[in-house]
Amino acid sequence: MRVLVVEDEPEMADLLRRALVEEGYAVDVAHTGDGGFQHAITVDYEVIVLDVLLPSGSGFEVCAWLRRRGVWTPVLMLTARDAVADRVRGLDGGADDYLTKPFSLAELLARIRALARRGGVERPSVLCAGDLRLDPATRQVWRADTQVELTAKEFGLLESFLRHPDAVLSREVLLRRCWDFTAETYSNVVDVHVRALRDKIDRPFGVTSLETVRGAGYRLRADGGRPTGHAVTPGRTR
Ligand code: CA
Repeated sequence: MRVLVVEDEPEMADLLRRALVEEGYAVDVAHTGDGGFQHAITVDYEVIVLDVLLPSGSGFEVCAWLRRRGVWTPVLMLTARDAVADRVRGLDGGADDYLTKPFSLAELLARIRALARRGGVERPSVLCAGDLRLDPATRQVWRADTQVELTAKEFGLLESFLRHPDAVLSREVLLRRCWDFTAETYSNVVDVHVRALRDKIDRPFGVTSLETVRGAGYRLRADGGRPTGHAVTPGRTR
């Protein structure tokens, strides 16, 4: 079993390393948040022990970076004090368990064994097309590094497209997936919402990703869109 310890205080890091080696684990130690992240995306660990207070990237940030990268290695977060806010933030951010300093080595080892048994639990992964990303768990959407605010309907449409990149989805299929039967639907409701979606995910970024396929429906390009050469701020004209 291979364990990564991310802890900047040399004495604590050494204590953890020795205790884990004594248990028969292979142990790597990183002393910064960024260093820990680099280790965690290159090596397959059974468990990551992650301190909250670290230079260059807090434990919270490292955990969020890993989950966003699709790395689901169980994370045991070490919080400096018994702060409820820290524990909630850690667990919300994708940590699997936490331990408050000071802790007993016996408890640390028991928690690590429990996490290793459980293994990495995959949350709904982020859907991507090129630099367009949608996270079904947090309901967030990004174009490259820019977060895009969508209405619930636009979000549902984009999720449908991202689950079927490059496929032509007819207006009927989109209606069935994104509108319930009781909703008052008018003939061009899909077109209206697709246009609104384009105004948010394409036009401001100077790309075309949502293509109209005449007589058939719409298609989202799997490459995330081709450049149109100019970015247009969303507005009334089109
Ligand atoms: Ca620390």
